[in-house]
Amino acid sequence: MALREIRVIGDPLLQKVSKPVKAIDGRIKQLLDDMHDTMVAAQGLGIAAPQVGVLKRIVLIEYEDERYELINPVILERRGLQAKPEGCLSVPGKNGIVERPEYVKVSAMDRDGNTYTVEGEEIMAVALCHELDHLDGILYPTKALEMYDVHVRTEDAQDEQEQCDESEAL
Ligand code: ZN
Repeated sequence: MALREIRVIGDPLLQKVSKPVKAIDGRIKQLLDDMHDTMVAAQGLGIAAPQVGVLKRIVLIEYEDERYELINPVILERRGLQAKPEGCLSVPGKNGIVERPEYVKVSAMDRDGNTYTVEGEEIMAVALCHELDHLDGILYPTKALEMYDVHVRTEDAQDEQEQCDESEAL
């Protein structure tokens, strides 16, 4: 298990456009494993490579016990509109309401180089759009309709109300 440092808002690297992955080698697989460990340790639902300081088009989402590794992801379809609170591992202590499509279909490669598509609705659609934005150097506060403070989740925050206050971190 290897944790990487999560870059936070203000770090200029988070505003850069990431480059496509040309070859999936051992380093990319290690990066995917480290991104997963880092995301789990930070209690996030999704993470993008630039958040750990790597400007490559790689996203990882874990939703309903399914792990999605998305290399060079592209949005193929988007439908509808939703405006829900979202949070970001790179924007601690805040949530914001962001307008996103209600449904998206994304094409990407897995770690074996196979192309596949993922469809997402509700939080999964939010997660896909949020993470793909990271690859273009976009942080959600630049899109948010409103921003507000939340309690930072801590190990001993057992209070359910407090848990509910914070949206999923992406
Ligand atoms: Zn984020």
